Amino acid sequence: MPLTPLGPGPEFDRIRRIAAVLGPRGAQLGDDCAVVEWPGGALVLSVDLALEDVHFRRSWLSPREIGWRAGAAALSDLAADGAEPVGMLTSVGLPPDFGDQALEGLARGLGEVAALVGAVVLGGDLSRAERLILDVVAVGRAERPVTRAGARPGDGIWVTGSLGGARAAWSALEAGRPPDRDALERFAHPVPRIVPGRVLAAAGARAMLDVSDGVAGDARHLAAASDVALDVDLGTLPLGPGVVAEAEKAGQAPAVFAAQGGEDYELLVALPEDFSRNDALALQRTTGVGLTRVGTVRAGSGVSFRYEGAVLDLSGYDHFA
Ligand SMILES: [Mg+2]
Repeated sequence: MPLTPLGPGPEFDRIRRIAAVLGPRGAQLGDDCAVVEWPGGALVLSVDLALEDVHFRRSWLSPREIGWRAGAAALSDLAADGAEPVGMLTSVGLPPDFGDQALEGLARGLGEVAALVGAVVLGGDLSRAERLILDVVAVGRAERPVTRAGARPGDGIWVTGSLGGARAAWSALEAGRPPDRDALERFAHPVPRIVPGRVLAAAGARAMLDVSDGVAGDARHLAAASDVALDVDLGTLPLGPGVVAEAEKAGQAPAVFAAQGGEDYELLVALPEDFSRNDALALQRTTGVGLTRVGTVRAGSGVSFRYEGAVLDLSGYDHFA
């Protein structure tokens, strides 16, 4: 197999194009993390780019928040594999007006999110740049990394925490309105779900990924990688802070707004049929993070998003759409 199959979209067409050129040298592409077999377990690696005016604006977030977010986004992929973080390598491109104090803020945010998950900053590289860029490699280890492939018909589809909060903050900021305070917190300080990821892996998670582009897109990746179909009931999606108010302004149903909202960095996970709501409550008690059932795996392909009796055709965020 040349790469883990991905869902539709021009961003993912480009990844398929790269994989086709690399051939057998690109066989690892397409999942949240690369997995390198290592004595005593596997080395789990991921890289994540945060680019000014694409992923954030400097007028919206402090340097400390920008550092935190970039680190959290990379660490979130380790969470999706059920991995234990080791550290991060960070390349930073600095624009001329980004001074030493701002750089210290950036480093502080990166260090704080590393500390939160028991990781360190292993190294990095600095360069001059036209816009602020952070490229973060996250390094972790796992005895049994959970990939996107492995969901089976009958499995339940569950999601951690809540969805759409980061998008709610982004929508308000973009429109020049003050965002809901909790929504801004979701956007500025996303918490990588490392502990829930490890607990879910231990509980027998069959397939998992982090919701970086919205469930509408990420569910398709899980379905494609596992070669199954998903039925997702949008009415069951746990809505994040600020979603109802911002969805109304956008003229969308809150559940649709939340399904298309990326960067909450929650986990979407396929769990065996016998994983129950009581098991979900136990996870919430031990980790402080809720787990909501949002769908079911069946034989077939693609994702059916059902909402109030209708089937909707939804897609997630795509950098090249
Ligand atoms: Mg991911």
